[in-house]
Amino acid sequence: MKLHEYQAKEILGKFGIPVPKGQLITAPNQAEDATQAVHGPPWVVKAQVHAGGRGKAGGVKVIQTPQAVMTAAASLLGNPLKTKQAGPEGVIVRKLLIEEGIDIEHEFYLSMVVDRSTAGPTMIFSPAGGMEIEEVAARSPELIRKQHVNSGAGWMPYQARNLIYDLDPPFRPETANALVAVMGALYKVFLTHDCSLVEINPLVTTTEGKVVALDAKMSIDDNALYRQKQLLELDDPLEKDPLERMAEAYNLNYIRLDGNIGAMVNGAGLAMATMDVIKLAGAEPANFLDVGGGASEEMITRGFEIILKDTRVKAILINIFGGILRCDVLARGVLAAANKIRIQVPLIVRLEGTNVEEGRAILKNSDLKFLVAKDLAEAAELVAKQVS
Ligand code: ADP
Ligand code: MG
Repeated sequence: MKLHEYQAKEILGKFGIPVPKGQLITAPNQAEDATQAVHGPPWVVKAQVHAGGRGKAGGVKVIQTPQAVMTAAASLLGNPLKTKQAGPEGVIVRKLLIEEGIDIEHEFYLSMVVDRSTAGPTMIFSPAGGMEIEEVAARSPELIRKQHVNSGAGWMPYQARNLIYDLDPPFRPETANALVAVMGALYKVFLTHDCSLVEINPLVTTTEGKVVALDAKMSIDDNALYRQKQLLELDDPLEKDPLERMAEAYNLNYIRLDGNIGAMVNGAGLAMATMDVIKLAGAEPANFLDVGGGASEEMITRGFEIILKDTRVKAILINIFGGILRCDVLARGVLAAANKIRIQVPLIVRLEGTNVEEGRAILKNSDLKFLVAKDLAEAAELVAKQVS
């Protein structure tokens, strides 16, 4: 579960990490009040959407007068913001954070993530803040510093010093102390809320030598939400892709991708392998969809409906290895969905496993048009041919 910047900043603030004062608004006529409540000029108007890269897309504006804040609010609210991460359709801006403008001396990058290679949290710090960290990592990896946390010992202050010492120019002692404190607090936030990521980009030093978190991103591990119930109310379903939202409601593991081959598969491993063979055959998957081992007919129907609703899909591959999920259940689910939504794209089916003959017979005796593949490699070839 992802949090908005304003939500994440509230949490950081509670743990003692300095954040700018700000006020959230949802309508342009609230903008003037906000400029009175928040110190300015300048004020910074910030679109609250989950996608990053808002600055470059015009979603972060530094503004000098209350009148101009109102104008900016009116032009941002209700309109799509096309950030690099949100894709060409963009995301509708429904909330704005009006924040005090901070006098920036330097922008740093600071985050804590789960590092799979060490099976624990890792703190990442870079003096090249403000820009996307992926770009920094690609262009100048030497500017990225990491400290792995020993889960038994926890975060140690010396690790903070390892991250910030011998930088050029060196930090003033009070700034260094403030940074060490921010890092310790960041670890506490991460641990307390079962985060998979907390990212402050940029973390800035001000001309007065203070350290302030100007941006904040926070993701909570979904598997821990059962014990993070107080955070559930921070969930913003409108920020999710509508098809992903529908999949979530039916307990389907669905992730939208950029290609045009819709794929319906049972089991996450088989779904990954199916995406690989689609790519090997020269095509691009439109989604990852794992209907799960014990999917019901209803779940199959919904899964297939979700694929059919995606207008970019030009061909569909159904790849099922029937174990606990029986092939006849799959076939009935597919037919139920096809009865609701007319299938206008080629359908390729590869079925194996429990009740496979019955499943094939159900599909064959329907008026559904589809191609049968004898194995996965052929299925991928066939589906790729439909879009080439
Ligand atoms: P994003 O990462 O989505 O582009 P940020 O919150 O990082 O959005 O804002 C982009 C840039 O805008 C920051 O790198 C910083 O230079 C500037 N900025 C953001 N908030 C403030 C603020 N309160 N005061 C001054 N500058 C800000
Ligand atoms: Mg940022």
